Amino acid sequence: MKRACVIGWPVQHSRSPLIHRYWLKLHGLEGAYEKEAVPPAEIDAFLRSLGERGYVGANVTLPHKEAAFAAADQADKAATAMGAANTLWLDAEGRLQASNTDAYGFITHLNQQAPDWNRDRRPVVVLGAGGAARAILRGLLDGGASNIVLSNRSRDRAEALAEILGGRVAVVPWEDRDKALAGCGLLVNATSLGMTGKPPLDLCLAALPADAIVADIVYSPLVTSLLEAARARGNPTVDGLGMLLHQAVPGFERWFGLRPEVTPELRAYVAANLAEA
Ligand code: NDP
Repeated sequence: MKRACVIGWPVQHSRSPLIHRYWLKLHGLEGAYEKEAVPPAEIDAFLRSLGERGYVGANVTLPHKEAAFAAADQADKAATAMGAANTLWLDAEGRLQASNTDAYGFITHLNQQAPDWNRDRRPVVVLGAGGAARAILRGLLDGGASNIVLSNRSRDRAEALAEILGGRVAVVPWEDRDKALAGCGLLVNATSLGMTGKPPLDLCLAALPADAIVADIVYSPLVTSLLEAARARGNPTVDGLGMLLHQAVPGFERWFGLRPEVTPELRAYVAANLAEA
């Protein structure tokens, strides 16, 4: 029986088992997907012994994505661009392979929910400069965005990210984030603000065009205060759950040999679990 897992510290909150076990059951596959809580001091040894532990591969979540990239024998273009991996598998020779599917997950969901997001090439405003923001900026650039405005509380982090991305991203100070919304076609919250247990995102939407799309990558709660405010003024919205579901697809295919689909039924199943939390 093929076994995969999600590795994190902590890992209890991870919804990945819910998603992969749903697909295993749906397709009648013999397989298992487990949670592995691995402290930072033990991550290298754990990854080196993944095969001995009976795993064909793994997802990797905070804080181990950079360590997973560093431990891999080979990394694909997406993981190399990010310097971080969220999907690992052992190839036929037993070498540890790494990918990063976060950018893919974000852009696939955005293209499905709002296929016209880049039609008139208006600026895209991204808030946040952490690991998730980096994936989102990659996804947006790969998806054709030509004009991205980035704002983050710690400006140096935003500047560093803009530099890595090669000058196609303009940084505006965090204090000016409200003004930056004027004329934009897509706003993405890639900070952790709005997440359960964190303060809400302090943002005034007055300058945001009425038809601009508002996306939030926070998925707990599913409807954040940002998405609520956007809906109240009639802006189309895209929530964070789709990214989570789509980023899981390539890993499942690698480990279990079948490309699963993100269906409304899977979405409802995971959303119900989020609502219980
Ligand atoms: P990081 O810790 O790497 O980054 C956090 C970001 O939030 C930084 O930009 C940080 O700014 C900002 N931030 C945190 N607190 C504040 C505050 N009080 N005021 C202003 N800015 C703040 O986290 P990640 O990038 O990994 O994750 C961010 C969010 O994205 C999380 O909520 C996570 O759950 C979600 N996520 C969703 C995914 C999905 O599939 N939908 C996938 C991955 C993540 P600063 O740099 O100044 O500290």
